[in-house]
Amino acid sequence: MIRVRFAPSPTGNLHIGGARTALFNWLYARATGGKFVLRIEDTDQVRSKEEYLDEIRNSLQWVGFTWDEIYYQSQRFDTYRQQAQRLLDEGKAYVERSPEGKEAIIYKVTPQKIRVSDLIRGEIEFDAQTIKDQVLIKSDGTPTYNFACVIDDAQMQITHVIRGDDHISNTPKQILMYQALGFTVPLFAHLPLILGAEGGRLSKRTGATAISDYRKMGYLPQALVNYLLLLSWAPGADQELIDINEAIKRFDIKDVNKTAATFDLKKLAWINNQYIKKEDPGKLSELVVPFLREKGFTSGRALDLDYVASITKLFQERLATLADFPDWADFFFSDDVKMDEAAQKKHLSADLSREFSLFIERLDTLADFDVAGIEQTFRELVKELNIEARALIHPIRVALTGKTVGPGLFDVIYYLGKERTKKRLMQWVKRSQS
Ligand code: GLU
Repeated sequence: MIRVRFAPSPTGNLHIGGARTALFNWLYARATGGKFVLRIEDTDQVRSKEEYLDEIRNSLQWVGFTWDEIYYQSQRFDTYRQQAQRLLDEGKAYVERSPEGKEAIIYKVTPQKIRVSDLIRGEIEFDAQTIKDQVLIKSDGTPTYNFACVIDDAQMQITHVIRGDDHISNTPKQILMYQALGFTVPLFAHLPLILGAEGGRLSKRTGATAISDYRKMGYLPQALVNYLLLLSWAPGADQELIDINEAIKRFDIKDVNKTAATFDLKKLAWINNQYIKKEDPGKLSELVVPFLREKGFTSGRALDLDYVASITKLFQERLATLADFPDWADFFFSDDVKMDEAAQKKHLSADLSREFSLFIERLDTLADFDVAGIEQTFRELVKELNIEARALIHPIRVALTGKTVGPGLFDVIYYLGKERTKKRLMQWVKRSQS
């Protein structure tokens, strides 16, 4: 049975790189009917923090990478010491005493060539001439990463170590430890680096943000997972959108890209929009509610879930993130319309009080206040006034929404309702007349 693990250190949040490593491990386990182990590498008791641990676990759950087993290295210190003692007893390790009298346990490295047949990168040869003797247990009594990692991978019966390329230099050191401890060496697969849009390492500015931040920014977990997949695997031909269940059916670790991936926020936003478009409107409206609340829309119509659902539908096609929603739909939830000054200058500088007043009158006498009725009234009015529709559409839109872009104007009027529409137009009539 295939057993893989994701081994984050809770000394920071889960970032894009870690999430991609977790994804490929989880995916491989699910694709092969194996087990996905989560191992918390919390041996650094100063830098490990409970809040990071929570963030990592919550983020993994949010993207759906459920684990079958979980272990904490901080609960296994005895095991590491026992194994170090064994190496001491076998003469493979020695004790080094610091001037303060603290003892560290060091492994004696024998010069040799080490070959790894990496499932992604192919054959790699390392020269252990260059590897110095390795610390197993530090003078503070805690194990080093390379030592604890090997003991755990062996005892947790990990068959495939899938991790980022940044660990490639650890691999020969770990192989030496497997040999010293007499454990079976697992297979290795090193995932290619993720670069920022400008070529360098992924930085905060280029997208190396915590997964919990992507959640706060309004990305859907399915979209993020789809994007992480594309970072190192091509589902075939030019396919970019792939459902995770389909990926589970088609994935093979051997097909992972060898070349570095470039993280592209624009692409992620595009994928997110694709998933938002496909989302069930009712579900989507539930997802936007926290974003409305967060922006301070906590009363009135923002509490009416049917209303929120109707408005969500109007924006569904164009949302790149859920966080766009309160920014674009604010005028439906607040009467304090945020005015885009350039739009006002362009479309509301002329005196339109006569046109606006006439439109208000027509809306008042409208028998059926529905989208079709509103549109018909409007079209009749511009015909009578002998003006082009857009000469009035843009000013009305800006007066009602404060913006030049948005859903169809007649939808806007319908969902604002007659009273709010009249009131907002009246303000401009009064302004022109004063
Ligand atoms: N704790 C290590 C890290 O977060 C794990 C590396 C590994 O997968 O072996 O980088």
